[in-house]
Amino acid sequence: MRYLSTRGAAPALSFEDVLLAGLASDGGLYVPETLPRFSRDEITALRGLSYPALAERVIAPFIAGAVPEDDLRTILEDCYAVFRHGAVAPLVQLGPNQWVMELFHGPTLAFKDFALQLLGRLLDYILERRGEKVVIMGATSGDTGSAAIEGCRRCENVDIFILHPHGRVSEVQRRQMTTVPGEGIHNLAVEGNFDDCQAMVKASFGAQGFLPDGRRLVAVNSINWARIMAQVVYYFHAALALGGPDRPVAFSVPTGNFGDIFAGYLARGMGLPVSQLVIATNRNDVLHRVLTSGLYDRQPLEASLSPSMDITVSSNFERLLFDLYGRDGETVAGLMRAFDDGQVQLSRNALADARALFSSHRVDDDGTCAEIAGTWAASEYLLDPHTAIGLAAARAASRDPAVPMVTLATAHPAKFPDAVRRAGVEREPALPAHLADLYDREERYTVLPNDLAAVQTFMADNLRA
Ligand SMILES: *Cc1c(COP(=O)(O)O)cnc(C)c1O
Repeated sequence: MRYLSTRGAAPALSFEDVLLAGLASDGGLYVPETLPRFSRDEITALRGLSYPALAERVIAPFIAGAVPEDDLRTILEDCYAVFRHGAVAPLVQLGPNQWVMELFHGPTLAFKDFALQLLGRLLDYILERRGEKVVIMGATSGDTGSAAIEGCRRCENVDIFILHPHGRVSEVQRRQMTTVPGEGIHNLAVEGNFDDCQAMVKASFGAQGFLPDGRRLVAVNSINWARIMAQVVYYFHAALALGGPDRPVAFSVPTGNFGDIFAGYLARGMGLPVSQLVIATNRNDVLHRVLTSGLYDRQPLEASLSPSMDITVSSNFERLLFDLYGRDGETVAGLMRAFDDGQVQLSRNALADARALFSSHRVDDDGTCAEIAGTWAASEYLLDPHTAIGLAAARAASRDPAVPMVTLATAHPAKFPDAVRRAGVEREPALPAHLADLYDREERYTVLPNDLAAVQTFMADNLRA
């Protein structure tokens, strides 16, 4: 399998190189040259497989050749054994044809574990074989940092540096990052805001000379193709459990960077009967605006009760644009230039194609609280604020009540106790047993000034040999 850049001017790469690449050299994102396609019979034959066995079948064509089958099987079994539910991604019914797929049984209680547990293991496997070492650098305002650290904690060939804005992430989220022991793990609390952290990461990827011995940086945000690939699996998992492929299924996805829902789009392209994908957004509704009006533009960031969806740009939307514009990289490059300068109006055809599959719905903080309270009152089921947005959107946007609608539950409610409290639910969401002592664990982090040179010097001085 070869991978192409969405902007058409970077060389095609193998899976192995895409895993290590991050952004393409032309600023684009990598996508597979062609999607593997499963026939109806082939999908039927996947019924009843364990989660890791299903993952192997779905992922193998994307990796083809980079990891031998037996090794891939071992990696996937190891990866999903750390999830604390026998089904890995269990489905819970909340109403007639309303389902929630719980993606929060991994080590950090958010769906990002599905991809980052795999990414860490694949990286280490491939680096070991190549005799190389790399450095992960990322900025986080919440869930990505802890999931990346957990995914890499046992990697011998990876040193990881996660920047967070000092004093500006929630205590649960900070502790999930800073209490993980490990020699190659570094939490940097930067005296600045999230944008400062992200700007330093961007600058460092652009000029990596500060790293000794020719080491390179690897990205762990959802521009990394391997993350999207891992997420395709649970769309198959849900559809198979609900009667697929003999019956279509719809999904509602709490969306920020468009990575998670893009995996659902790929599953459909691989032959899974997905009839509808609902983009659920909070007040930072760039994708709802583009689907409603065709105008893709940037608005100021507003803090919400669902911080993991607080974005102004949805980077993975570029991957969809690539398909909507006939996989013409030059056109996409032009659109993204115009977007950087202000705004883009999608063509009528592109918008019509997007709307054929995607719907969108925006939910503000009051709507989020109302959904948490309403679902608790109806079913005594606790939602986290991101999932609440997904469920509210699922109800509002469903096109066909006869089709099962699956909302992706992207985080455990105990990660966001403030939102649950604000919704007026009397039950305090409890952390699962493996995190029950989170508030007693020792934290390790280094406070650094909001200064690129200080951060880079710290990194260079603290790499393992
Ligand atoms: C990251 C995250 C999202 C958004 O996912 P994207 O792939 O960026 O669209 C939604 N909910 C939670 C809890 C998250 O951590």
